[in-house]
Amino acid sequence: MIRFENVTKTYARSQRPALDDLSLEIERGQFAFVVGPSGSGKSTLLRLVIREEPTTSGSVLVAGHDLAMLPPRKVPRLRRQIGTVFQDFRLLPNKNVTQNVAFALQVLGKPNRAIRMLVPETLELVGLEGKGKRMPHELSGGEQQRVAIARAVVNKPPILLADEPTGNLDPTTSLDIVRLLADINNQYGTTVVMATHDNVIVDEMQRRVIELDHGVLVRDEAQGSYIPAP
Ligand code: ADP
Ligand code: ADP
Repeated sequence: MIRFENVTKTYARSQRPALDDLSLEIERGQFAFVVGPSGSGKSTLLRLVIREEPTTSGSVLVAGHDLAMLPPRKVPRLRRQIGTVFQDFRLLPNKNVTQNVAFALQVLGKPNRAIRMLVPETLELVGLEGKGKRMPHELSGGEQQRVAIARAVVNKPPILLADEPTGNLDPTTSLDIVRLLADINNQYGTTVVMATHDNVIVDEMQRRVIELDHGVLVRDEAQGSYIPAP
């Protein structure tokens, strides 16, 4: 589903590569954590998957397509297949919960009929049934992240990328959010890639762990902890 082939990414005016000769494959339906200290290249890895940034060398393939070969007019099509969730939620502050989720479908030109079906069903999936009329500021951080997740998956994308989605949440809420991502992975077969430096969560979930250090892949375990077992 996602393949990196000898990918190096060096940002303009920077000396060291943010990703250094990275090769890995994430198969359809997997749930993978990308771990490593701040600055190790986790966000860069995710940005390359949505072609927010080009690689400096090497190839990124998503659903069989080499992103370097993708003409700019096809980038929106790529991004429709990838839901994204961030640490800071990024909700529209002047729209209520239902409107925030519906908006993701409206911009894709989905008919209202479909939107009226999909939004309540997705709010239920994320545990926000009955909260459609709330405004973002009336919600807890965990609830706001649930809205962001609903918005990211309402179109049932095959891939969901989450960049430090629990970075602003307390430990209990963080675990709830990751369990929700795992539910979505199970129920829809969505390929989930989550960048995190939350060791408690990674240890609890025992999923695939891809560890970066200064942009170098230093560990890739099928079911691992935040720190490798001695
Ligand atoms: P992480 O997500 O693990 O914190 P990042 O991918 O954000 O790591 O950063 C990896 C490296 O790339 C860091 O050294 C960071 O300073 C650098 N970097 C990230 N984004 C940019 C950018 N837009 N321009 C220049 N350097 C960047
Ligand atoms: P075909 O029309 O031959 O069945 P597709 O509809 O799969 O092929 O693809 C048509 C074009 O759309 C391709 O040239 C490809 O670049 C682009 N495309 C298809 N799927 C994706 C994708 N997942 N991400 C980005 N671009 C895609």
